[in-house]
Amino acid sequence: MKVLFTHSYFYRFDEKQWRLRRPYPPYGTMLAAAMVRQAGFEVAIYDSGLQEGPAGIKEKIEVFKPDVLVLFDDNFNYLSKMCLTVMRKAAFELIQYGKEAGCRILVNSSDATDHPEMFLEAGADVVMPGESEMTLLELLTKDIAEAAFTEGIALVKNGSLLKTKRRTGFKELDSLPVPAWDLVNLEPYKKIWQDAHGYFSLNIATTRGCPFKCNWCAKPIYGNRYQSRSPETVMEEMKLLMTGYGATHFWICDDIFGLKPGWVKSFSGLLQQSGLHPKLKIQCRADLLLKEETIDDLVAAGLDEVWMGAESGSQKILDAMDKGTTVKQIYLATNLLKSKGVKVCFFLQYGYIGETKADIDLTLKMVKELMPHDIGISVSYPLPNTGFYEKVKAQFKDKQNWTDSDDLAMMYQGTFIADFYRQLHRHTHFVFRQRFSAINLKRILRAQSLSISTMKSAIKLPYFFVAEMVSRRKLNALEKR
Ligand code: SF4
Repeated sequence: MKVLFTHSYFYRFDEKQWRLRRPYPPYGTMLAAAMVRQAGFEVAIYDSGLQEGPAGIKEKIEVFKPDVLVLFDDNFNYLSKMCLTVMRKAAFELIQYGKEAGCRILVNSSDATDHPEMFLEAGADVVMPGESEMTLLELLTKDIAEAAFTEGIALVKNGSLLKTKRRTGFKELDSLPVPAWDLVNLEPYKKIWQDAHGYFSLNIATTRGCPFKCNWCAKPIYGNRYQSRSPETVMEEMKLLMTGYGATHFWICDDIFGLKPGWVKSFSGLLQQSGLHPKLKIQCRADLLLKEETIDDLVAAGLDEVWMGAESGSQKILDAMDKGTTVKQIYLATNLLKSKGVKVCFFLQYGYIGETKADIDLTLKMVKELMPHDIGISVSYPLPNTGFYEKVKAQFKDKQNWTDSDDLAMMYQGTFIADFYRQLHRHTHFVFRQRFSAINLKRILRAQSLSISTMKSAIKLPYFFVAEMVSRRKLNALEKR
């Protein structure tokens, strides 16, 4: 039996991400493909990532002639968890092409987990909600009639939606094969990275899930569990990607990295012994970073950049989100990481229930005082099966999902109008850039740095000064509307 895998994240359809020039191959799709191949099926991947659009799959279908088309999103990439409507539309088109070619269509994604009925209506034979590699393997050996008795599926039976019991996820991640890196053409990814950034970064997952309970965070695939691979298998995979494909940098795409006690220390030791010297980018929480010698071990392993879910500079808002971290921890972890030469970046979130102008000012103050290396700003986005969603769903209008990752539409009535938050997003960037330019000007005046990038940044100070002033005025006007 021939199985063609694909996924619905097209970088070109998400203008902001495409502009950033940081594309990653579909790790979760390649992993599912490797498992199916290991089970004896003939497998190929149509990697949507860098394609112009879904129609390109028609040629692949014509050449490969699959019996089954599996739309399996990369659930390790947070972009797929955003359930963007532009990607949903692309998914429906991919399904349509598979249908026209007579394929059986199986679907797994965050969006399909939340809305199986939509994907079934679009032509999917079976949706596999949640963690579904085992479900997929089982379905490939069953016909449609038997499929209804499989755990972890949603399908239409006798005109109604039938959902079976959710399947328990993997416990032994080390038993999984290495993702099918050989089935995706990595050269175009490498070229984009080299041209834009001067190095090649690849993605790798070391865990599944997150046990924390931030009440806005949707975890439709792996839920609140936390499973971890052994440091040895992760190191082996990195070795393969460095020697085989020329990667020198890794984005460890785990929700949170290094939660298991002792894991980072063992991993760091192995990496040092191996003689490999990759640079690492991770996502983590302030409280975890402050545990034991985590930061020292991470630095020894090659930590280059941390994206911290800081969210807010107001303790009141962190508590309302059930974040479980403190503003003090954010300050401590940031200063410690910066003192060790690590780039610290913040995920920030505006518009949470009850957030006032005073809370927003605390977030701006935190940004100015800590000066992270970069910031990613979002507004609170209610996704199904979260406490936050339940609190605000009565206020939903027609639009319930963002179009792309730069949409930032408010889906519910925040303290201020939607335009205020759009302006606040711009304003925060101006505040941040102005401060950054001022710091660089000081470094030049003190002869601490005369590099071209420092000078370029310092020269922009007058522009950011004016831009920040104008944007503050606009913000004040919008605050009163
Ligand atoms: S720590 Fe991160 S991944 Fe875990 S629940 Fe909070 S926001 Fe979600």
